[in-house]
Amino acid sequence: MLNIVLFGPPGAGKGTQSEKLIDRYKLVHLSTGDILRAEVASQTALGVEAKKLMDQGLLVPDSVVISMIEKKVDANVAGNGFIFDGFPRTAAQAEALDKMLDSKGTGINMMLSLEVDNEELIKRLLNRGKDSGRPDDQNEEVIRKRITEYNSKTAPLKEYYTSQNKYCGIPGIGSIDEIFLKLCTKIDS
Ligand code: ADP
Repeated sequence: MLNIVLFGPPGAGKGTQSEKLIDRYKLVHLSTGDILRAEVASQTALGVEAKKLMDQGLLVPDSVVISMIEKKVDANVAGNGFIFDGFPRTAAQAEALDKMLDSKGTGINMMLSLEVDNEELIKRLLNRGKDSGRPDDQNEEVIRKRITEYNSKTAPLKEYYTSQNKYCGIPGIGSIDEIFLKLCTKIDS
């Protein structure tokens, strides 16, 4: 299996690049943000609780996202592999993911990290908010909160994957195709 963690702050381009990568490498895309938004749209009990946090730019509890991911991994374990997008976002999530994959005889091959500076992120997200309909993209304060959450809880995962020799940083500035090419070069090498 080829299992990739696509990493980077909100607005780094993970969703865009995931779509291209799943097409090229025939992987299953697991985005916790997408799964959570689907729960919110269907107004499940989980969705109603998650929305309160998401609208403030805060993370939802680890236990919630871990069990969501576990279900999806179980359902697709016979495939070519996964792109994890927006997960793991905390050390507890990264440890749970390693355990989960290990129990299925597989593991993470690499973390590909899209590196983009804060001002560019805020610009991109506010722009996306104009037509995405995502409430969390429409308010600069919420966007800044998401970036703060990222820097305090998620960015430390760089060390986690570096210590396993799996971290690859990629500049996330340039055209979509240029960035895609850089990602593919890393995966193929
Ligand atoms: P972005 O990367 O643009 O911030 P996502 O679509 O990945 O957006 O996530 C949107 C929101 O969903 C996050 O701000 C957070 O509230 C919640 N969320 C998504 N994934 C996770 C996760 N792995 N752990 C905790 N909360 C999450």
